Amino acid sequence: MSRVHVLLLQHGVTAFDYSVPAGMALQPGDVVMVPLGPRRVMGVVWDDDTTAPPVNPAKLKPVIARLDIAPLDAPLRRLIDWVADYYIASPSAVLRMAMPSLSALEPPRRVPHWRFVPGQPPRTARRAEVLERLTDLDEPGALPLAEWARLADTTPAMLRTLAAAGHFDTIAAAEPAPPLPRPHHAPPTLSPAQTAAAARLRAAVTARTFAPLLLHGVTGSGKTEVYFEAIAATLFPDGKGPPGDSRRAEDNEASAQSSSPACGGGVSEADGGGKGQTLVLLPEIALTQPWITRFTARFGVPPTVWHSSLKPAARRAAWRAATTGAAKVIVGARSALFLPLPNLRLIIVDEAHDSAFKQEEGVQYHARDTAVMRAQFAGIPIILSTATPALETREQVARGRYQEITLPARFGGAQLPAITMIDLRRTPPPRGRWIAPPLFAALTETLNRGEQALLFLNRRGYAPLTLCRACGERINCPNCTAWMVEHRLTRRLLCHHCGHQSPVPPACPSCGVEHSLVPCGPGVERLAEEVAASFPAARTALVTSDSVRGADDAAALVTAVQNRELDLLIGTQMITKGYDFPGLTLVGVIDADLGLSGGDLRAAERSFQQIAQVSGRAGRGETAGRVFVQTHMPEAPVMTAIAASDAEGFYAAERDARLRHHMPPFGRLAALVISSEDEAAATDAARAIGATAPAATGFEVWGPAPAPLAMLRGRHRHRLLIHARRSAPLQDYIRRWLAPLRLPASVRVTIDVDPHSF
Ligand code: ADP
Ligand code: ZN
Repeated sequence: MSRVHVLLLQHGVTAFDYSVPAGMALQPGDVVMVPLGPRRVMGVVWDDDTTAPPVNPAKLKPVIARLDIAPLDAPLRRLIDWVADYYIASPSAVLRMAMPSLSALEPPRRVPHWRFVPGQPPRTARRAEVLERLTDLDEPGALPLAEWARLADTTPAMLRTLAAAGHFDTIAAAEPAPPLPRPHHAPPTLSPAQTAAAARLRAAVTARTFAPLLLHGVTGSGKTEVYFEAIAATLFPDGKGPPGDSRRAEDNEASAQSSSPACGGGVSEADGGGKGQTLVLLPEIALTQPWITRFTARFGVPPTVWHSSLKPAARRAAWRAATTGAAKVIVGARSALFLPLPNLRLIIVDEAHDSAFKQEEGVQYHARDTAVMRAQFAGIPIILSTATPALETREQVARGRYQEITLPARFGGAQLPAITMIDLRRTPPPRGRWIAPPLFAALTETLNRGEQALLFLNRRGYAPLTLCRACGERINCPNCTAWMVEHRLTRRLLCHHCGHQSPVPPACPSCGVEHSLVPCGPGVERLAEEVAASFPAARTALVTSDSVRGADDAAALVTAVQNRELDLLIGTQMITKGYDFPGLTLVGVIDADLGLSGGDLRAAERSFQQIAQVSGRAGRGETAGRVFVQTHMPEAPVMTAIAASDAEGFYAAERDARLRHHMPPFGRLAALVISSEDEAAATDAARAIGATAPAATGFEVWGPAPAPLAMLRGRHRHRLLIHARRSAPLQDYIRRWLAPLRLPASVRVTIDVDPHSF
């Protein structure tokens, strides 16, 4: 009898050994059901832990069953081990990101499909009427009952009656496989720069080895079209890559265009088996729908979508399609990164600079960096596409580890927008308003010309702070070190950190004076109020996570903008990313200084990226764009770089500063956050942990100090920062430090390797 090492999905446990019953054959990666105490739990057969002492298999409990679920291949198992090791997380917690809950893994419920059988008209007039409508339908085939009801404009009950009279039969329908993307459907004619870039990407796909590629081009340079060519290259059957010319009839619709050198010729699409899978990661679910639209236009069919807000049925279908290899192109947010994909040949991280790829809860990993590791373990290329690569990514290029492929200009000769800085000290807005005169004038012109404009203010709600005029009290969240933010649309005060809500009190909670509370500072809702007063005819939309709640809302918004049903968008960072609005010619940045406060290492870089990205929304069509940036400190290096569109200058200075202080990527950081609902317990634990920091060369420990959000969701938080020289073994150091610790049950320690905000 042999034994297997099984990594469990259960919370609070990691891995156990089990014996394999006679007649059961198990391989690493197989998904199994095993006993755990009185329960049965799911796990994955893991690679043998050679460090564990040998156990007598006779003493082990046997595996209950091997589940009929796609196994986790060796590269994915290595990735899970790597994430657990690098980010100092439990391998089970990482495995849970790769395996949705058991219910999501169940084979799809087979919805019976109904087939219409025409025949003698029934007795009642109502039934006859429905029957007539059914007969008139254009042979819809076998459909679920609800679908029939919709088509025939009737109720399921009525259809059941007709079925009882022999007008329907039912069949068990198999789950349809997702349609295959067609590489020749509508290939674009690429510019010479795009052609060169696409050739390098295709070569990387064909070479089938690990290759990290930075696709770097200004906003609107046509990066998406270029990496679509890399996806097209994965869709050719093995060994028959482009070009070829055994085109099938199906492809004729596209054959006129596909003589373009961009895509090469065609090959049979009948052979789906050898085609590779591509995983595309986007920073936000809201960007998914526009991406799907573009993909569908290019490849004729939609991709398979995976993200956390899929409904259960869609989730099951997507899971099966992805893990069986039937889905060729899978697009999703961070969580798609751990999907088992048996035939993965290419990974694309779009908007790769985006800080949304950094997961801040649970396993605190960086999806961009983890995606690069997945590509390395799988031995495939990865494309990081961005207009504003992160300093870390630039440094990988400088060190020769990543190849850079550049698109130097906007596609079709479109100009980058002209940037004007507005010094708010010299030309402030009128009292109680937030749009300064130069931006106001430009906005008036733009709207008068019938063009579209966008105002960017990275603050949800009406006002970031509510203050008592009588006593100076600021309304704080009871659970967090944070102000409550007034939201006028919902007439509530809301904490943006824990979600705590309350009505706006009629009197100051501190001094009791009535009507004394005043909103301070602008949020997007307040800006919208100003715009409505100044431009009553403009059709405006708020674009924030409060108003645009999911992929559907985002899709509706994009359509409305593209159809010119909106004149003016007012949005938070959500509006800065990825969207392509050809009619938009003016961008106003209401408060460029907003991101610069606080002790965040990447504050300047993030501001620079954000303003470059939002500027990139302007002038993507025929008309040149203009950008106005309002700031109180136009002389700050980040502002002068923005004014001059001098990314290289900005990054050179930023690199120098980080190098001088041995900051990432020239040194390493990790943060330990020690928290408890009990303030004294948190303080004591932080002090005790700080006191046991091992002395080692190459390491420094800073703190403990109150964490930037000293209280969050009712937990008091202290932080220790660990700084290490670049080559120092940071994870070993932390493990050595924390392993012997015994903490009170109320105290939690979270580890953030390569923290983003601190
Ligand atoms: P990026 O991803 O670099 O911001 P996009 O791929 O969105 O750029 O391209 C910018 C605009 O130019 C889009 O509207 C896109 O459809 C268009 N475009 C890019 N390349 C081509 C091409 N080869 N043919 C036609 N239109 C193109
Ligand atoms: Zn709160």
